[in-house]
Amino acid sequence: MTHPAFPSTRTTCPYCGVGCGVLATPDGKGGLAIKGDPDHPANKGRLCVKGSALGETIGHEGRLLAPRIDGREADWDEALDLVAQRFSQTIAEHGPDSVAFYVSGQLLTEDYYVANKLMKGFIGSANIDTNSRLCMASSVAGHRRAFGSDTVPGLYEDLELADTVVLVGSNLAWCHPVLYQRIAAAKEARPEMRVVVIDPRRTATCDMADLHLAIAPGADAVLFNLLLAEIEARGLIRDPEATGLEAALAAARLAVPGETGLAPEDLARFLDLWLRSDKVVTVYSQGVNQSESGTDKVNAILNCHMATRRIGRPGMGPFSVTGQPNAMGGREVGGLANMLACHLDIENAAHRAAVQGFWGAPRMAERPGLKAVDMFRAVEDVRIKALWIICTNPAVSMPEADRVARAIAGCDFVVVSDMMAQTDTTRLAHVLLPATGWGEKDGTVTNSERRISRQRRLLPPVGRARDDWRILADVAGRMGWRDAFSWQHPSEVFAEHAALSGVAGALGSDFDISDHVGITREDYDVLRPFLWPQSAQKRGGRFFGDGRYHTPDGRARMVAVAARGPQPLDEAHPFRLNTGRVRDHWHTMTRTGLSPRLSRHLAEPFLELHPADAARLGLQAASLAEVESPHGKALLRVLITERVAPGHPFAPIHWSGETAPTGRIDALVQGVTDPVSGQPASKSAPVAIRPFAAAWYGFAVSRQPMKPDCDYWALARLPGGQQAELASGTTPEDWVAEAQTLFGIAAEPLVVRDRRRGITRLAFVVDGQLQAALFVSPEPVALSRSHVAAALGEACSPDLLAGRAGADRPDEGALVCACFGIGVNRILSAITAQDLVTVEAIGAALRAGTNCGSCRPELKALIAASSRIAAE
Ligand code: SF4
Repeated sequence: MTHPAFPSTRTTCPYCGVGCGVLATPDGKGGLAIKGDPDHPANKGRLCVKGSALGETIGHEGRLLAPRIDGREADWDEALDLVAQRFSQTIAEHGPDSVAFYVSGQLLTEDYYVANKLMKGFIGSANIDTNSRLCMASSVAGHRRAFGSDTVPGLYEDLELADTVVLVGSNLAWCHPVLYQRIAAAKEARPEMRVVVIDPRRTATCDMADLHLAIAPGADAVLFNLLLAEIEARGLIRDPEATGLEAALAAARLAVPGETGLAPEDLARFLDLWLRSDKVVTVYSQGVNQSESGTDKVNAILNCHMATRRIGRPGMGPFSVTGQPNAMGGREVGGLANMLACHLDIENAAHRAAVQGFWGAPRMAERPGLKAVDMFRAVEDVRIKALWIICTNPAVSMPEADRVARAIAGCDFVVVSDMMAQTDTTRLAHVLLPATGWGEKDGTVTNSERRISRQRRLLPPVGRARDDWRILADVAGRMGWRDAFSWQHPSEVFAEHAALSGVAGALGSDFDISDHVGITREDYDVLRPFLWPQSAQKRGGRFFGDGRYHTPDGRARMVAVAARGPQPLDEAHPFRLNTGRVRDHWHTMTRTGLSPRLSRHLAEPFLELHPADAARLGLQAASLAEVESPHGKALLRVLITERVAPGHPFAPIHWSGETAPTGRIDALVQGVTDPVSGQPASKSAPVAIRPFAAAWYGFAVSRQPMKPDCDYWALARLPGGQQAELASGTTPEDWVAEAQTLFGIAAEPLVVRDRRRGITRLAFVVDGQLQAALFVSPEPVALSRSHVAAALGEACSPDLLAGRAGADRPDEGALVCACFGIGVNRILSAITAQDLVTVEAIGAALRAGTNCGSCRPELKALIAASSRIAAE
C-alpha cells in the first residue's frame, strides 16, 4: 500500500539502456512502491523484473556512510583536501597524463559532464574513460566512420513499425526486456511481422524468433558482407553516391558463406527476409560490439542499411542498443577518452578551441587519452600515478580482472567514489568517498533512442553521501578552479551543458539541446522526457532519412570490411568462452544482489556447456568445472544444455569477490581489444575446462551473514537471511566446528548423519526457530532450496533434516516468475493438470508472467518442453 501523504515521483530506472520511466512512491515506512510510468515513451508503463524490484535495493544496508582515508573514517574536508592535494602534486611532478579518471555509464549526465570538464579542460589530459568502453565503444566508432557522427538514427517505435526485426548478438529478452516486450506485443498484433535472432547461443530471445541463426562465433561481418553482396546482386543499391561503395562491395563479394556456419537454406531465408521488405530494423548490442573486430561488424551492418537507404525512416534502420542506463549521456558529454563534449572531436583544433573558449579552460587536452584497457596497463606500469574510480567496479568487470586488481593495488594513490562500502574495488582505495545513489540524486540520463529523462531525488542521501558532480566540483575548486565549478544545483550543470551543445551545434554537431539554455531549477524539476536534438534548427525525430549524413561532404561513408574471426584457440585452451548477463542481475550485483527475489532466479555463477562437451570432459550436471585461461581461473556450476554449441560454453559476468570469488568471469577474459574502438573482446576467451574434484558439496542457509572458507562458495540473498552453495576438494575433520565457523554460532546443532551415503545435515535452532542449516553430500546437494529457505526463522520440522519438502510446502523449484515467487515445479504441474497451452493461460491460472513479463520467454519454453514430453 502506498501512503496518501507521499505522492509519486516520476523518475527513470538506473539499470539498462532502455531507460524506462518509473513511478516511485514512498510507503511511509522508508520503502518505495515501484510502478512503470504509463506516460514515459520508452516503456509506457511496463517494467522488467529488475526495475520492479528497485524498492528492495534502497536503504542503508552495505552503504558507504562516510569518507574513509586508509580505512579510517574522515570528514569531507579532510578527504577532499587530500584528493585535491595528491592530484595537484602528481600533475605538478609528472604532468597531466600521470593521472586518470575511470568512470561509468551509471553516472548521471551532470556527473559525467563535470568529470569530463575537469579532466579535459582543467587538468589538461584526456585520461578519462568509462566502463561504457566495455559495452558499446565499437558502435560509437562504427557510427563515426559511417555517419561522420555518433548518431543513433532511429527510435524505439521503429521496432514496432518494422516488418522484419533482426537481432544480432542481442539477448533482448534478458538484457533489454522492455524492448523485447514491445517487439513481442507488436508481433502479436501483426503476426506477419518477422523476427530473426542471430546469435551462436540459443537465448531466451529466440523464443519469439521466426528464424534463429546460430552463427559461428565472430562471423557476423561475413554474414552482413554476404547480405551486401546480395543487395548488389538483386539491384537494390539505392545510394550509388555513397563514399567507398565500390570498395565495400568488392570486400563483400569475397565473403564465404561456409564461414558463417549456417545451413544454406537458413542463410537464403535470412537474405530473403531482410531484402524482401523495406521496413527492416537491425538491432545489435554486445554480441557485435564486444569483439576484436567489433567496429568492422558494426560497419558491415551499417553498410547494408546505408546502401539500401533503409535508415532514418519509420520502421527501418540500424539500431545500437546500449547496455547501460546512461552510456548515451556519457557519449554526449565526451566521457570516452577519444571524444570531446557534445560530440565534438578532440582531434579537431577548431572544436578544441571552441570548447576551451566556452569553458575558459586553462589547459585543454590536445589528443585522445587512454582507453580503458590501456589505462589500466598504464596504472600497472606506473605511468598513471593517481587514479580516481567513480561508480564502477573494474576489479571485477575489466578483462584480465586479476591483473587490473593488482595494478590498482600497486597504484600510488587511488580514490574510489561509490555507494557501497565493500566491493572488490573499494577494498583497494586509499580514499573512499560515499556517493548518493538512485533515488537520492537529481540529474538526467539518455536512453538508447536519444531520449533524455530525469532521474529525481525522492529519498534523503544515506549517511554523509554526496552527489558525484558535487564531489568532483569540490575537488576542482580545491585544485584552484572554483569559479568554473561553482554550480549549486545539477540544473545549473545541465544548463551549461545545453549552452555548450549550442556552440557544438553551430559547428555542425548532431548533439544540440540548446533549447534548454538558461533552464531554471523549476523547469528542470518538471522536465519531461525529450528526444535530442532540441534546438531552434532541429528537434527530435530520426536522422539520415534524407540521405544526408554528418560527413564533410554529407554523403554516406561505406567501409570495406575484411571479415576477421576471433583470436585462434590453442591446444591448451580449446574452448571459446562466451560471456554475458542473466535476466535478474545487473553488472557486479552491488545493487540487484540486495534483492532476495532477484537472487532467486539464478543464485550462483554457472557454465552452460553442450552435452557433447560435458560427456567428453566427464562433467555431470550440477557438478563443478574448473575453467582456466592464460589470465585467470574460475570454478563454476555445470549447466548442461543444447542452448550452446559444442566448443562454445557460456558464463555470466555478475559474480564478484563479495558474492562468489571463483565466479569472477572477467578474470578469464583476455585484454584483446578492437583496434579502432579499443573495446575488449569479451565474448571469445580461449579457455580450458576440466572437472573439479570435489570431496563434498554443501548448501547452507542462515539468518546472519555467513563467512564461507572453502574452495567454492556463492552467496545469495534470502528474505531474512542468506543462502550459500559450497564445495571443497578437502573434507574438514569436524563438521560441527566447520558449521559453527561458517555461521558464527557457538551453539550445538542438531545433526543427522548417513555415513553410508556420506551425507551430513546440521541445523542450529534457537528458541525453537531455525537460525541456520548446512547440508553436505559427496554429490551435488539435491534438495529443495526454496523449501529450506522458507524454513528459516520457523520451527524446525523433522522434514527439514530429512531433506524433504514439507507436506504443507510444495517445492517450488527454481524461481521463474520473480514478481509472484512462482517456481518451475508449480508452473509445470499447472501446465499438466490444467492443460495450459499459452502464456496467457498460465497467467490466468497462476498470475506468473502477468506483471513485469520478464519470465514470459521461460513460460513459453516450459509449455514447449511439456508438450515435447507429452508427445514422447
Ligand atoms: Fe530498467 Fe528493465 Fe526498463 Fe531496463 S528494461 S530500464 S532494467 S525496467
